[in-house]
Amino acid sequence: MSLPSFERAALIGIGLIGSSLARVLRRDSPRTAIVACARRAETLAAARRLEIADETTDDPAAAVEGADLVVVATPLSAYDAVGARMGPALRPGAIVTDVGSVKGAAVRALAPHIPERVHFVPGHPVAGTEHSGPESGFAELFRDRWCILTPLPEAAPEAVEKVTALWQAAGMRVATMDPAHHDKVLAMTSHLPHLIAYTIVGTATDLEESLKSEVIAFSAGGFRDFTRIAASDPVMWRDIFLNNREAVLEMLQRFSEDLTALQRAIRWGEGDVLFDRFTRTRAIRRSIIEAKQA
Ligand code: NAP
Repeated sequence: MSLPSFERAALIGIGLIGSSLARVLRRDSPRTAIVACARRAETLAAARRLEIADETTDDPAAAVEGADLVVVATPLSAYDAVGARMGPALRPGAIVTDVGSVKGAAVRALAPHIPERVHFVPGHPVAGTEHSGPESGFAELFRDRWCILTPLPEAAPEAVEKVTALWQAAGMRVATMDPAHHDKVLAMTSHLPHLIAYTIVGTATDLEESLKSEVIAFSAGGFRDFTRIAASDPVMWRDIFLNNREAVLEMLQRFSEDLTALQRAIRWGEGDVLFDRFTRTRAIRRSIIEAKQA
């Protein structure tokens, strides 16, 4: 899938996700001028050193001037301020998209700042690592992963098609859904697992010293996989839980009930209950491998 032609792309936020997309644009669309926007001088200097931006600025309004593609890739808590600053400077006909992990909140924060003749197509590339910042990005991050777009009903089909083609060029499969549905699905597939990982690693941190050092030494027994997830960016994950509160609390309620049922099965020695549950979950793993998402 070839990349749609963009003259000037403004990346507001040039961390893991923004810089990975910048690398895709550099690789596949060398004629697109890339403007990177971040708050800190070190981040902007890194973007220049890595040659993933032609221009850098700490002002979202200056960044979007003349841009036909604007990608908001900051933490969710910055969306409202970024939107307020860049909104009046957006060029008519421009496409604005984003990569935020919670779509209801992304739409609520950005949509009020988007002028009438600008096309807003919210998106979420479901790909990531536990690393942050421009150095951690790489063009292959998106390959064979899903990108979920949550366009509003009034979105122009050509704008949705262009954003679809952008992520397809990055190697992604693209699905479209309603923002609230996206947030429920991701609460289960991503947000709840992170909450569990943060909890388990937190519990281990509070253990007495001798036990804790053994937990680290013997971590390959399963704990290690949780530590990778629990090393994810604290700002991003704080924002996700604050912005997807309802869906996360609903999934957490169901999880707590299921955990209590397993606790009861262990207490009463109900091996068949445990065996049935573990057999069903094994099948899920197989279907993930078959879907090439392992
Ligand atoms: P990151 O590596 O921490 O990068 C965030 C970037 O945003 C940095 O360049 C930061 O610049 C900039 N920024 C922060 N506040 C800003 C502001 N007020 N104005 C302008 N720039 C600002 O984060 P990330 O992992 O790329 O995540 C970015 C977004 O992608 C989040 O909304 C997240 O939900 C979403 N996402 C993340 C993943 C993942 O696994 N990481 C996956 C999918 C989607 P400074 O260095 O100057 O602060």
